[in-house]
Amino acid sequence: MRLRTCAAATLLLLLGTPAAAVAAPGQSDNLSRTATVTASTTSSWESVAAVNDGIDPSTSNDTVNRRWGTWPATGEQWVLLTWPTAQTLRSADVYFFDDNGGVRLPASWRLQYWTGSAYTDVAAANGYPVAANRYNEVTFNQVSTSRLRVVLQSGTASVGLLEVRTYATAIGTGTGTGWNPPAGLVTPLNQVWAHQEQTYPNLYGFRNYGWDQVFANGGSINYCVRWDSSAPVSAALRDRIHASLARQFKKWMDVMAGHNGWPYATVPVKVVGWAVRDRATLQWTDSSVDVYVNNIRENAPQCSEPCGRFFNQAGTYPNCPGGAAHHYDMSLWLTAGMGGGAGGDWGQRIGSEYYVGALDSDNIHILLHEMGHSFGLDDFYDWTPSGVGGFLMQAGSATRITDFDAWMLRDWWRHLKNRYGY
Ligand SMILES: [Zn+2]
Repeated sequence: MRLRTCAAATLLLLLGTPAAAVAAPGQSDNLSRTATVTASTTSSWESVAAVNDGIDPSTSNDTVNRRWGTWPATGEQWVLLTWPTAQTLRSADVYFFDDNGGVRLPASWRLQYWTGSAYTDVAAANGYPVAANRYNEVTFNQVSTSRLRVVLQSGTASVGLLEVRTYATAIGTGTGTGWNPPAGLVTPLNQVWAHQEQTYPNLYGFRNYGWDQVFANGGSINYCVRWDSSAPVSAALRDRIHASLARQFKKWMDVMAGHNGWPYATVPVKVVGWAVRDRATLQWTDSSVDVYVNNIRENAPQCSEPCGRFFNQAGTYPNCPGGAAHHYDMSLWLTAGMGGGAGGDWGQRIGSEYYVGALDSDNIHILLHEMGHSFGLDDFYDWTPSGVGGFLMQAGSATRITDFDAWMLRDWWRHLKNRYGY
């Protein structure tokens, strides 16, 4: 459970029992280490063994560790990884050698695998970036093969490589062409992601982000309202609350529509239940939502736990009255007298008076901010990314989803999408 209380300080609680952790990529998962490496050609003073020696370079102009280079040869050059048995491969990171002289970045590159009778390009590669001083990542349709070739086309000089990491999974650093933010946001977005990786060791292992919930439902979200107030709620007010919640949620989901393979044009919100201390507080008599009375948890009314995603992260609800269709992914927890808010995988908590007073507002910014947390977005109380300022997730500095907020959301999709087969 991630809980962020959005006051002067960030409170993060990691509770619950997430599914087995998936490690971020690195040398420990690098399948290249067990391969034998050969090359089209190698300068006599260089070594092709560099590419799978497990040393992560700190610069493309590495003058300390061994390197693979082809000087003076140019044109198409390759390095071949050969394993004794077939490997499942899904992504790779490539670090180019560039000495600012006879060996420079390639004009282009691609990956080819051995089908048993020929080398063929991996399918659905998400892009082949060419950058110095960092790993260049590519993900592709899974292959099972005993041979993988990194094929470089030279540009202004000969070419070379310092390291080639290969993985069975597609979780990676993410530099594919499907991700195309404005140039000025690239650096701050990468800073944010690096900061999150550093701050949350289970970032990739956690399995209950809003993303996971949307996919578990096939493109929708169910809510239950925790009405932690004695103020009466008419049917009309209930319906306004439902409509407002859907409008605010839509603002985030509209950011994703059509972006980088995101499969849902809309993500409908359905409120399936309300929790209350006293049934008489709810003034409707119809049965359009489930009503849970006086089930007190955390000193507040709680919807049935057997129906809650937080308590059933396997996504099955065998003990939910009414069955899985009555489950809820998130709670909208409305607390009388509360200022500020909190958000996490369990939903959002804000003040009931604040929310009721803001129902017709275009941007209910505290709720929007807390929804951002439900999709993994972080707070910014103690630092600011380079070159940006005034955005929703930096509490108090904006009252709507800004471009930077939108791109932070999209950046989560960039890094998590392979989890869902994209
Ligand atoms: Zn916050």
